[in-house]
Amino acid sequence: MVTTAAGLIRPHGGELVERMGERPEGVEGLETVRLTSRELSDLDMLASGALSPLTGFMGREDYERVLEEMRLAGGLPWALPVCLAVEQAPAGDRIALADETGRTLAVLEVEEVYSYDKEREAEKVFRTTDGEHPGVARLYRQHDRYVAGPVTVFERLEPPFPELHRDPAETRSLFSEKGWRRVVGFQTRNPIHRAHEYLTKCALETVDGLLIHPLVGETKSDDVPVEVRVDAYRALIERYFPEERVVVSAFPAAMRYAGPREAIWHAICRKNYGCSHFIVGRDHAGVGDYYGTYDAQLIFDELEPHELDIEPMFFEHAFWCRACGQMATPKTCPHSGDDHVFLSGTKVRELLSQGELPPEEFSRPEVAEILIEAYRST
Ligand SMILES: [Zn+2]
Repeated sequence: MVTTAAGLIRPHGGELVERMGERPEGVEGLETVRLTSRELSDLDMLASGALSPLTGFMGREDYERVLEEMRLAGGLPWALPVCLAVEQAPAGDRIALADETGRTLAVLEVEEVYSYDKEREAEKVFRTTDGEHPGVARLYRQHDRYVAGPVTVFERLEPPFPELHRDPAETRSLFSEKGWRRVVGFQTRNPIHRAHEYLTKCALETVDGLLIHPLVGETKSDDVPVEVRVDAYRALIERYFPEERVVVSAFPAAMRYAGPREAIWHAICRKNYGCSHFIVGRDHAGVGDYYGTYDAQLIFDELEPHELDIEPMFFEHAFWCRACGQMATPKTCPHSGDDHVFLSGTKVRELLSQGELPPEEFSRPEVAEILIEAYRST
């Protein structure tokens, strides 16, 4: 692990690249492009340094090499395109970037406009061209050209959870204050049941601190709403984690559901936030049956060992085993499924929506009660 003076892992590419600045003159007169929610998330992550070393939306050279080799033009590993789609080539050499309401947030210096093949991008990034895949569907709805160039963000998005909002520089200084050098990041877009509590605790046993980094950007509409998840994380940590070893903070990315490639991208972003380790579970960032159970773990083998610097920690699915009398995984438990307390996602939703608590071996009652309450009020 390559560390900074403060002892934390270095950002991807060596330096934190933040793209915030003063509102330049003449923004009002510029051609304005309204960004989609995914593009807005990307813009905000460019501003904060979460996408270091990127300085803006990708040009063709970076885009091509990312698609073909999972690398930026300069050779640094990078798994997902970070591109801005436009209807037509802008007339000027600068454009203003705005949110859905038309509020201007940033300026982009136009370096390049290029066309791209949506099906090819889908195949490379999502491993499918099926328009039913939510990430592919979004790609197909995009405009037909990409505009590339560095951005300067002068107005940030309002974070959905101001108290959970921390930019990479802030998580880094927080970790340093706590004296942490090794920090494991845990990405989630679901409430944490016993299985994930177990994984995060196993990981925490080997490092100094745990960053629970729930994704609060756009997700599918059937994922559990972020407000509910945040309440559930708080209840869990308050009752079952040593508070001084855990930080909960929001990860502002939009889900792409790109499975394996997104797992690598998520790891790189967390490195920028100061994590030296990153938990990759089964089917990380997957959706439906598009990816094999272990694809998001296997893809890390396509890079040289330690090339990412951040260390992926691979985990199996965990369960309570009655014979072991503890949480375990197929890696650590020799008993058959009959001894395991396992509920499918569908079964859990069914119980919760009927106001029933799942078994304590599956879900902490404090967490389940919050979920039941949420189901009741919808
Ligand atoms: Zn067992």
